[in-house]
Amino acid sequence: MMQADWQEFERAHVWHPYASMQNPLAVYAVKSAAGVHLQFEDGRKVIDGMASWWCAIHGYNVPELNHAIEVQLGKMAHVMFGGLTHAPAALLAERLLSLAPSGMKQLFFADSGSVAVEVAMKMALQYWQAQGRSEKTKLLTINHGYHGDTFGAMGVCDPLAGMHHLFADMLPQHYFAEAPTAQTDDQWDDSQISSFRQLIEAHHDEIAAVILEPLVQGAGGMRFYAPEFLRQVRELCDCYDVLLIADEIATGFGRTGTMFACEQAAVAPDIMCVGKALTGGYMTLAAVLCTANVSAGIHADGHGVLMHGPTFMANPLACCVALASIDLLLASSWQQRVQAIEAQLEQELAPCRQSERVKDVRIKGAIGVIEMVDSIDIEPLQKQLIAKGVWLRPFGHLLYTMPPFVISTTELSQLTSAMCDVVT
Ligand code: PMP
Repeated sequence: MMQADWQEFERAHVWHPYASMQNPLAVYAVKSAAGVHLQFEDGRKVIDGMASWWCAIHGYNVPELNHAIEVQLGKMAHVMFGGLTHAPAALLAERLLSLAPSGMKQLFFADSGSVAVEVAMKMALQYWQAQGRSEKTKLLTINHGYHGDTFGAMGVCDPLAGMHHLFADMLPQHYFAEAPTAQTDDQWDDSQISSFRQLIEAHHDEIAAVILEPLVQGAGGMRFYAPEFLRQVRELCDCYDVLLIADEIATGFGRTGTMFACEQAAVAPDIMCVGKALTGGYMTLAAVLCTANVSAGIHADGHGVLMHGPTFMANPLACCVALASIDLLLASSWQQRVQAIEAQLEQELAPCRQSERVKDVRIKGAIGVIEMVDSIDIEPLQKQLIAKGVWLRPFGHLLYTMPPFVISTTELSQLTSAMCDVVT
């Protein structure tokens, strides 16, 4: 098929994320990608300011990552994980557990972030069942969260911005506290946690776990919150016998300036989900890490097996590229890079604060967010950005970037100046 023909076919037959089949938004065909650039089929080249939705921290077509996959491909692409195992899974498990916050001792490999969240919830529910506390079936979270699109995960996404209204009758009912508004510990006062405290005090007997995105709420609104909130959540969970699940799927692997966002609050969760940048954006893979207390607790009644087992669990290609991606990250000066990106985003997006159309500009690690007063008309804005050589995907009131860590200062300036131009 010629390019024009397959694009036409695709438009008529293939769904895109959160899109209409009858009236789809424009999509751009990508021919190849290298470094921080996407090469479109029509010859245009753009800087990827999204890192493919948080994933491509090393950029594209990375020799070390290509090599890892090629070597593994010569051995085996995939085998089932039921009853079989392999070195890539074992080595990746060792690396992940050694990097994770203290106390993480066991892990489960899932095949996507949403599935990891489902597994994390099952771990928490099975843990309490095995303790003879089967009444603990609810989750507690905060508004503006996002944890994935499967049913369990949707049940803890923001009740207004999420998809609750579409599936209200089918979603399990959980508890939602007000999200903190303090972005830093300087802005903290105890009223920030009062809604959360009230809910956990009143309902801890039925609450199995708290689930949160540590410090940065992503797809639910690109909001940042003070580490103090997370510290107090940890204390309240301990006080009321509730497990803490940290969803580090977006924040993991350096994005917020530390390897995991939890570290900035010196908090260790009971269960932690990772995904997205785990494979450097090469393949789909996620993992759910937990403490020895959780894994032993699931077995406390003598026969607790964790009831999950996806077909592509611990795919060897994905495990190998994840290991190579983590090694590449650790061998780089990623902390300095993320700090430098943070400083440059702060300096170059700051002028947007002067615009009446802009409500807020916020930066954390290698994440830059411009929140507009009015909601954004995505298609024309995206066209303008592409004309300036930049790929971004705004949503709602938000124009934001989380670029690959390997972006150069010149490339980042092109990105920020395009952002400033289109919002002011
Ligand atoms: N949790 C968080 C915090 C996420 O940002 C996402 C993806 N946007 C998910 C879970 C779901 O991951 P996936 O899209 O891989 O299912």
